[in-house]
Amino acid sequence: MGTLIELRGISRIYRMGDTEVRALDGVDLCIAEGEFIAIVGPSGSGKSTLMYLLGCLDRPTGGTYSLGGTDVASLDDAGLSRLRNREIGYIFQSFNLLPDLTVVENVALGLVYAGEDAERRRATATAIATRFGLGSRLGHTPMELSGGQMQRVAIARGLACRPRLILADEPTGNLDTRTGAEIMAMFRRLNAAGHTVVLVTHDPGVAAQADRAVRIVDGRIVSDERNPPREAVPPAESQEAEVVDVPKPVGDGAIRPADTLRIAVHEGLLAHKMRSALTMLGIVFGIAAVIAMTAITEGGKQRQLEQIRQIGMNAIQVRSLALDGSRLLAQRRTNPDGVTPDDLGALRRHVDGIEAAAAWKALKAEVRLGDRVAEDATPQGVTGDLQRVLDFHVAQGRFLTAEDDEARARVCVLGSAVAEELEAEPGTAITVGDQLMTVVGVMGRKAYAASDISDISIADRNRDVYIPYGTLRAYYRKLPRDSQLDAIALRMASDEGLVERSHLVRRIVSDQHRGAEDFAVSVPLEVLRQAQATREVFNLLIIVIAAISLIVGGIGIMNIMLATVTERTREIGIRRAVGAGQRTVLAQFLVEASLLSLTGGVIGLLAGVAGALAVQAVFGFAVAFSPLIAVLAVCVSVGIGIVFGLFPAWKAARMDPVEALRT
Ligand code: ADP
Repeated sequence: MGTLIELRGISRIYRMGDTEVRALDGVDLCIAEGEFIAIVGPSGSGKSTLMYLLGCLDRPTGGTYSLGGTDVASLDDAGLSRLRNREIGYIFQSFNLLPDLTVVENVALGLVYAGEDAERRRATATAIATRFGLGSRLGHTPMELSGGQMQRVAIARGLACRPRLILADEPTGNLDTRTGAEIMAMFRRLNAAGHTVVLVTHDPGVAAQADRAVRIVDGRIVSDERNPPREAVPPAESQEAEVVDVPKPVGDGAIRPADTLRIAVHEGLLAHKMRSALTMLGIVFGIAAVIAMTAITEGGKQRQLEQIRQIGMNAIQVRSLALDGSRLLAQRRTNPDGVTPDDLGALRRHVDGIEAAAAWKALKAEVRLGDRVAEDATPQGVTGDLQRVLDFHVAQGRFLTAEDDEARARVCVLGSAVAEELEAEPGTAITVGDQLMTVVGVMGRKAYAASDISDISIADRNRDVYIPYGTLRAYYRKLPRDSQLDAIALRMASDEGLVERSHLVRRIVSDQHRGAEDFAVSVPLEVLRQAQATREVFNLLIIVIAAISLIVGGIGIMNIMLATVTERTREIGIRRAVGAGQRTVLAQFLVEASLLSLTGGVIGLLAGVAGALAVQAVFGFAVAFSPLIAVLAVCVSVGIGIVFGLFPAWKAARMDPVEALRT
């Protein structure tokens, strides 16, 4: 028989301040493959310390430990974890089962870290548990088992990866005499089947069942004796010895990502549903606020842009001011005709970069076809290229031409709503005021939304009736002191220098009007930009509030994760003992934190969308959702989980497995 364990000069010294505790002090010990050895000694003699070292849960302060020919000191955490997982089955006095897992899941715990897939895990664990007489308890949790059954589960777990070495720390300590004897018989059968068994006990009766008893006192081996041969072990009712038939795991030794996720869902998210829900709130609010507010501001922006399109892109407008009484009188003394076509001429001559220009004058007159009256129709005398200025084109027939204007032709073009109302089409004669006009065109439908920027007024162009300006002047009486034109609109070639150009426009018109203050010049795009700038400040405020909410949410997650790690210290110890490495533990808690925040983020996303839609339904705000923002929100929430979960996860990973198991 080859040597399985070789300890040379092993010491383990605990330092507490200035005092040193030599828990182990120069231990030399060889254990052959297939041996059954009991380690005995009084309490505090170092037995457990020795077991932890043998189990690769702790490292010696000095000396060398070789297990199956491998120098354990040369292994890093991952190497040690793998060794624990594949070569060592650790059985504890207090069973150390995970209370929320079923018998099968507990037995399969090591197989998870061996990287076995779920099906093989289930098959192997069920086979072992059944052979251990747990066939009727497979789906039960440890709480529903007797002490003896719990210890059987623990031994089954220790054997699931078919380790060469079984370490049992006072395995009968928590059991009554009869059950203890059953468990001891089990160890003997396992030993007879070829397992090397190292058992710690302070019970001489238990020690007598081993082949060999090693006695430790104060961290030193004081005796090492062979026991007299015992009678043959009675055959088991449930034939535990057959466990050697269980196949060795084929997994690649790393936990599967799906299992990390499953553990995070079960242990992290669902184990404390209320707590998880409360923890997520900060993230939910933060993400919901961002989603709802960006949807509303984005919707507002798009609506404004639409409105600007209605006025005309890159437009500069000169509007006649609606003055009243004495102020009107004063201005008209200086400039009798208000805004005039001459102003338009002067602008055309002196301002460069005008792509198109138009001017209009509304007329108060009824629009009729026979006895059908178009309600709210606005007749307007227009001159210039209104179609290009407003990006608004005829759908049927033609638009008014310069010839119509010069010839004062009695023709008109109808807005789509008016045409529909009058059931008129090109060729129809309608009455505008007291004049008969022939319809020559019908405009296309123009999307209309009332302006929500105070400085911009938008008319519903679908209710316009256009007649040539010359015709207006020839056939309709001008009221005294009325401005000749309501507005001049210039469409500039580009949006650059619009404001500078508008200053020039103001100067030119002001010269034309001999200084009269009877007009206003506006650049709708600029008004929009300013309105958006105010919104930017508002957006910034929301982003700050959302960020604070997210940070608070993140801190909440960190807080809960820290509490979780403390609460689950023993669980961490158990998982480490069956082969989870530090990185595995780190990943598990990180995934748990991220899942918590991701769930919060997704709920927040849905709440934000619902909130924005509610605002749209109740207040009529325009909303626009951006997939980019949604993806970003989800990424941010996961990022928060990772950032704020890192410290707790690191704490969990760094935890000393021995300390963790002692709690
Ligand atoms: P046994 O298992 O034989 O009762 P232990 O191996 O638990 O003994 O302990 C051996 C000695 O080492 C005891 O004196 C104990 O107080 C000490 N010891 C064990 N673990 C620690 C520790 N983490 N810090 C300080 N002293 C420890």
